[in-house]
Amino acid sequence: MSAKAGSPQSRSGSKALPLLPNTDKYETIITRFAPNPDFVLHLGSIRAIILSHDYARMYKGRFLLRFDDTDPRLKKSALEYYDLIREDVRWLECQWDAEYIASDRIPVYYEYAEKVLKSGDAYICTCTPDNFRLYVNAGRACPDRSKTPEQNLIDWAKMLNGGFGEGEAVLRVKTDLSHPNPAVRDWPALRIIDPVNYPHPMVGSKYRVWPRERST
Ligand SMILES: [Zn+2]
Repeated sequence: MSAKAGSPQSRSGSKALPLLPNTDKYETIITRFAPNPDFVLHLGSIRAIILSHDYARMYKGRFLLRFDDTDPRLKKSALEYYDLIREDVRWLECQWDAEYIASDRIPVYYEYAEKVLKSGDAYICTCTPDNFRLYVNAGRACPDRSKTPEQNLIDWAKMLNGGFGEGEAVLRVKTDLSHPNPAVRDWPALRIIDPVNYPHPMVGSKYRVWPRERST
């Protein structure tokens, strides 16, 4: 990183926010509010929005609004909520600098999935969740972890083209298998959601493999 982040500036007349650590390591401070558009915002959202916005302004960085609409099964988004959320964030006077809609970017996720499979940093796992848990809780690799990139790319194609059904395969990112938190070990980054039974409000039944939402 060449340049340093802008020096902190607080909203005039308001109490300054505490400084963030290590900001001098980054060229730009970028914050984001990333709702799933399956609900209207509530009071609990306000803290995240205002802090993200004000920190971005304080460091002359960027504040992003990202719609995390990648779970058409369990957290099905609805078109009306995208606009209601935009309206509410504007009402809080927290104008965002750029907006992303995750469901618009599925080809980008697929591109990166292929990259990490090719580089051997991820694999397609066909274990049942219970079986996988047995391996990972013991800090051991499941049998899929040692597959070649070529085999993984074949299995990835099967995830995309319907060769695997919902729940039959996930893309896992290789991590430290002794990570203290078992949920982090080889976490599933992309999974299949039946596009016929669970069409997406923005992209319909176009995609059957979806990135897993961040777990918060
Ligand atoms: Zn496996």
